Amino acid sequence: MLTMKFGGTSVGDVPRLQEVVAIVKQFLDKQPVIVASAMSGVTNILLDTSQRALERKTGEVNNAITALRDKHLHIANTLIQDYQRRAALIKEQQESIDELTNLYHGVSLLRELSPRSLDAIASFGEILSCRQIAAILQESGIDAQFIDSRTIIRTDDNFGEASIDFIYSNAAINNALAPLVQKGIVPVVTGFIASTEDGITTTIGRSGSDYTGSIVGAAVNSEEIWIWTDVDGVMTADPRFVKGAKVLSEISYREAAEMSYFGAKVIHPKTMVPAIEKKIPIRIKNTFNPTHPGTLISAKPKSVASAAKTVTSIDNLAIISIEGNGMIGVPGVSGRIFSALARAQVNVMMISQASSEHNVCFIVPQKDCHTGAKTLREEFSVDIAKKIIDDVLVKEPVSIVAVVGEGMIGSKGIAGKTFDAVAKADVNVIAIAQGSSELNISFVVEQPDAKKTVQAVHDAFYKN
Ligand code: ADP
Ligand code: ASP
Ligand code: MG
Repeated sequence: MLTMKFGGTSVGDVPRLQEVVAIVKQFLDKQPVIVASAMSGVTNILLDTSQRALERKTGEVNNAITALRDKHLHIANTLIQDYQRRAALIKEQQESIDELTNLYHGVSLLRELSPRSLDAIASFGEILSCRQIAAILQESGIDAQFIDSRTIIRTDDNFGEASIDFIYSNAAINNALAPLVQKGIVPVVTGFIASTEDGITTTIGRSGSDYTGSIVGAAVNSEEIWIWTDVDGVMTADPRFVKGAKVLSEISYREAAEMSYFGAKVIHPKTMVPAIEKKIPIRIKNTFNPTHPGTLISAKPKSVASAAKTVTSIDNLAIISIEGNGMIGVPGVSGRIFSALARAQVNVMMISQASSEHNVCFIVPQKDCHTGAKTLREEFSVDIAKKIIDDVLVKEPVSIVAVVGEGMIGSKGIAGKTFDAVAKADVNVIAIAQGSSELNISFVVEQPDAKKTVQAVHDAFYKN
């Protein structure tokens, strides 16, 4: 079996969907299992419109619903000639649109938009998309079947970023899909969405369809998992922002996970987890250039061109620091900081190196920084009053820039080369990551400096 996941752009318009059909046909003898995302932009529209519904901006909600309906209707009308098939698809799509309309109406009436409601609303993107993909494949003579992943992938109820129950899901996925594939049927499974034990819709995190691809691929013991996207593979930097970014032919699972954690959007960081366990190679491929071999992600890549492989960045972060001479030698300060932040559900993304013992600083998402700072001022109110701690300081927006690659710490010149390039670009490094793994060097800069920093570091490694 070959599991192929198609991303938003790859299923985002008529020519791309025609390419999907051609690709599935080409690999039909490999017994494909398809996982797909919502059409590009649709999940954002669904979520933004929820806010409009909450604000009771009925006109805007209605316009968005009409736009979504027309977008999908256009695909059905253009790509499905068979009258009955087209009518059946349009009927199903209209039912989904009606359900969605009711949900928005509920949000407006109740003036309540919980993470649970957001997941229910977001789920329509993948449902509309995968139903039409199944119909388009059928139209071209392929025996395809739509599969709602909520019937086979079970999660907890952490809406928006739910965790997979692998024991249940692996069995359910395999039981549902293997017999279909044996019969020559191509399952088309919705990415991103799942459900709780009680059947409540969940989502597994933004850009989570890659992860669904790997969950499904591992459960059915695929030979390989292919992630079809809009670039030739994993590149040395984000090609949208960095001139001279190059495709990497092979990288390791660990590198892929680290790069994506530090901002390489091309693959979701959790995608590697199910694949590693079963040693299933992942390949990133381009629907706009399908003959390109792409990037192979595996346990032991053959070619190791250079220790530093990609330069990535994450924006919209804040750095919080706690300072005070009285902190020197006082045990338990770090413990109190991180316990307080955990209670306030503020995710600490990186702990940065303290310049001395009287300063602890760490990086959090910008949206959480004021909650984080308030929580810490409360936690340390007595210490602040006694002047043991001077203050809790927030700096925003900042970005993390990371250089990622296996064997970085072993090759001594890399940190020097990195920081030399940063200095030459006249960028101030605010903090350096503490306890970085062997795989990365990461540091914090002011957000307006991030792009030129990435370009400068990339040039230092890759410009001839
Ligand atoms: P999909 O909709 O197929 O899931 P995404 O937009 O999520 O696609 O991911 C692909 C995008 O990731 C590319 O268009 C590219 O701009 C971006 N990207 C960021 N970093 C990298 C990188 N290191 N290599 C390749 N692409 C990257
Ligand atoms: N449609 C979802 C999102 O936009 C999942 C995905 O595309 O991977 O986040
Ligand atoms: Mg993606």
